[in-house]
Amino acid sequence: MARKIENLRNIGIIAHIDAGKTTLTERMLYYCGATHRMGDVDKGTTTTDDDPEEQERGITIYSACVTMSWSDVVINLIDTPGHVDFTAEVERSLRVLDGGVVVFSAREGVEAQSETVWRQADRYGVPRIAFINKMDREGASFYGTLEQIMERLTSAPDSAQPLVLQIPIGAGPPHQEDAFRGVIDLITMKKLVFEAESRGSEIEVSDIPDELREQADQWRSKLLEQIYEYSDELMLLGLEEAPIPEKLIRKVVRQATVHRYVIPVFCGSALDYAGVQPILDAVEAYLPSPLDVPPVEGEDPRKKDKTIRRKPDVKEPFCGLVFKILSSKHGDLSWVRVYSGKLKASTRVFNPGKKEKENAAQLWHIHASKKEEQVPEVEAGDIVGIIGLRHSVTGDTICETQHPILLESITFPETVISMAIEPESSGERKKLAETLEMMKRQDPTFRAIESEDTGQTLISGMGELHLEVIKHKLLRDFNLDVKVHNPRVSYRESVQKAVEVEGECHRQIGGEQLFAKVRLRMEPIEDATDPVTIGSAAGEEISPLMLAIVLEELKVIGEGGGIYGNPLMKIKVTVTGGELREGETTDVAMRIATSNAFDKALREAGMVLLEPIMRLEVTTPEEHLGDFIGDLQQRRAIITKTTNRGDMTVIEGEVPLASLFGYSSAMRGLSQGRATCAMEPLKYGPAPPEVADGMI
Ligand code: GDP
Ligand code: MG
Repeated sequence: MARKIENLRNIGIIAHIDAGKTTLTERMLYYCGATHRMGDVDKGTTTTDDDPEEQERGITIYSACVTMSWSDVVINLIDTPGHVDFTAEVERSLRVLDGGVVVFSAREGVEAQSETVWRQADRYGVPRIAFINKMDREGASFYGTLEQIMERLTSAPDSAQPLVLQIPIGAGPPHQEDAFRGVIDLITMKKLVFEAESRGSEIEVSDIPDELREQADQWRSKLLEQIYEYSDELMLLGLEEAPIPEKLIRKVVRQATVHRYVIPVFCGSALDYAGVQPILDAVEAYLPSPLDVPPVEGEDPRKKDKTIRRKPDVKEPFCGLVFKILSSKHGDLSWVRVYSGKLKASTRVFNPGKKEKENAAQLWHIHASKKEEQVPEVEAGDIVGIIGLRHSVTGDTICETQHPILLESITFPETVISMAIEPESSGERKKLAETLEMMKRQDPTFRAIESEDTGQTLISGMGELHLEVIKHKLLRDFNLDVKVHNPRVSYRESVQKAVEVEGECHRQIGGEQLFAKVRLRMEPIEDATDPVTIGSAAGEEISPLMLAIVLEELKVIGEGGGIYGNPLMKIKVTVTGGELREGETTDVAMRIATSNAFDKALREAGMVLLEPIMRLEVTTPEEHLGDFIGDLQQRRAIITKTTNRGDMTVIEGEVPLASLFGYSSAMRGLSQGRATCAMEPLKYGPAPPEVADGMI
């Protein structure tokens, strides 16, 4: 049966690694009755981290979608990864979810990765609630973390403001005098204690103890003051000092959250089963349903620049976005967010980007208990796993053939690091090719190109850890017998200066005289969307038909390598003119002249070798700051900022990837294991002359 759209919640849990995302997820699934076995990340038995690679590393790399039911709502939980090498994964889950639960550790506060992901969520306009976890830890501070959230995440004038809906009773481990014992709900004004024997299933609700009364009253007033402006009804009751119905408060908080004016804040200890049900209640009460988010926008593939909007309504034509592909025992499972209309199993759909018809053979919902359920149809707002799509990859739109729409594709940064691999036997070659093909479909940030010259395959990704994970998958999960070389930086080639050239074709092929001339301008550009931007400023001397051939040929050549075989980048090529001769200028002549002009231009413009630059953030105890700065300077880093966070210092900088190999272990060495770092591809910049010389 289709799920009711107003009762759907498509959410993700967003957190810095180790803040407790997996533990919170497990507890949520448990209370929703989805799992009967309580998972434990420390024993590697959780439901969502079912990839052995993830269990070993204890980090969630590949997101999956699990469904659970709570009260009247169905929650589709899209798992988001917590490691910065995989930010593209975070971005694509943010695209398809409607709301987020951000988990902070009450001990560590706002960490680097939470900040990165927070800004991404801002960019995608995702309404959020916050859960301050680990209240049972030594040194846990609810108010300290709250302050950090306000300072680092919500200080911009137009930013949503934290809205405290719970305050903790005590903080710290059980043996301490003022240990964390439960929470005060500021809407019901009750004390909630989560009974340990029942793993928090039993909640003891009682009156607020006298010693906390004043504090609770203060926070309650603050809560109301913060939301008066969003409701006249509430304001009037407040002015009259009349009792305010809980239902009204919830309604106003919901509106303010959905509009991103506020971020409701909760606290607890996921590990100790404390404070989890209120989070589920809050997901239901405050986070948006698919009806609360604006209609999705796309382009009409038949008429460029015409925008089409689709409401989350079953009466609209069907459209959806593929956001993830996983292999399952039934075949590739394509995860799709359905934005409009409905989709029935065994129907034809259209992929407008690839201009391919697809067969949505089977539709699946995956429940957390690992019970897969095949469904006959899905409706707008829902998320579904489709078996049968053959051409669609992550980021593609699928839609009704009669009503095509092209949603904005998910963009992924350029790969920055690559590694050569080669099969140990020829028998292994085919299996390797197939496996890589499948992995490419599943992970769009990963590339693999086979080189016919060397028999090697070059695989590329977003960072050292990313390639490491891929390597383990090949060797361990797929048992492939392949030789793996050391990873190396992926360089790019650009040009130094603008040039104008003329290329020609003047020769006899098969007894036929061929002639054509093509003039091009080639120049370096920054900020382009394509690696090689192609345009035309040619006059009438080239017929439209021939011009189309030149442009097509340029596109193909542009995708090839530069003088030293590296992919091209930051180049603009403009066709400025040419010369055609009746009877002698054929397609082939045009192509030869174009290619000749392109080669000439590359040589005359001079090569610039570009190297990937990473954005790096190191968090270290202050006493090691000097060592880190010194070390980073030797790595050609540009340090952009250092800030203090409690007793830790955060160094931000831009560092060439080439000098970051093995940085994680060097960093541990410098800080006796106490520092952490995060990095992600930032841009391509000029490589030092030695590197370029080495290549020549
Ligand atoms: P993730 O990386 O965000 O998925 O975090 P995990 O759920 O894997 O938790 C990281 C570590 O913190 C594990 O050792 C958990 O047992 C621990 N942990 C999670 N939640 C809590 C909590 O509320 N209190 C305490 N003391 N430890 C927690
Ligand atoms: Mg995890």
